[in-house]
Amino acid sequence: MSDIPKDHPRYVSLMTREKIVEGVELGITSQQGLVAQGRGECFDYLTGEQTTDSALIAEKVGVAMLLLAERPVLSVNGNAAALVPDSLVKLSEVTGVPLEVNLFHRSEERVNRIINHLKDHGALEVLGSKADARLALQHSRAIVDSEGIYNADVVLVPLEDGDRCQALVGMGKSVITIDLNPLSRTSRTANVTIVDNVVRAMDNMIDLSYGMKELDEAELRKLVEEYDNSRTLSDAVRQMIRKLEELSDT
Ligand code: ATP
Ligand code: MG
Repeated sequence: MSDIPKDHPRYVSLMTREKIVEGVELGITSQQGLVAQGRGECFDYLTGEQTTDSALIAEKVGVAMLLLAERPVLSVNGNAAALVPDSLVKLSEVTGVPLEVNLFHRSEERVNRIINHLKDHGALEVLGSKADARLALQHSRAIVDSEGIYNADVVLVPLEDGDRCQALVGMGKSVITIDLNPLSRTSRTANVTIVDNVVRAMDNMIDLSYGMKELDEAELRKLVEEYDNSRTLSDAVRQMIRKLEELSDT
């Protein structure tokens, strides 16, 4: 990794960028993943690179949904695997939700590399290599495991593509996404959109899980029932407008 001084004002962002580049070098992140990261960074700049109040609410509701679900799955793509392998394993451990590798630019080799990468970071079991079921999409983008995403009732899909998010929602699943772009099709289609950097969102969700595991079902249900995703999306856009106004005044 490049030698980035710790006191650099954008240290965290630059380190995140390094991790994605390393992911490409390790063969776990696709080149398209680099472009996606750049798109995310731009929106992160506009939120001030911090978790907003409304993103934290969405993170809480996402955790509640995972804890309430019967067959939840944490979906892992090449970007998530490069950026937050430890957090994915930890969130899976704390909530008891299995991990599944689920790639847009799929190759068996890359699936296996990511499974091994997650195992190197402490995962005991990772789904995604059976590839015995299909979403209603064109070929390789559609491949999933029947015992994982295909039969899941709730799926957390960080950094997902719009078509695939639509296909999951179309199958009647509840979809939680993490996506810094509140305008993306994924953000607009998911049931719960966490407009936050996956690096911060995952840490927040782990912290929330410890306490929320102790809540009773009725309390978790109340959080989910009172949630309004369209409000989250407009809050995110408004936050960005405010930031731009602030910057244009200085
Ligand atoms: P869509 O298909 O949903 O319309 P898209 O084609 O613009 O979106 P994709 O590459 O399909 O983008 O999905 C990646 C999404 O992940 C983008 O919206 C991007 O802003 C977001 N993203 C990238 N890096 C991060 C990150 N580190 N944290 C959170 N979101 C991110
Ligand atoms: Mg897309």
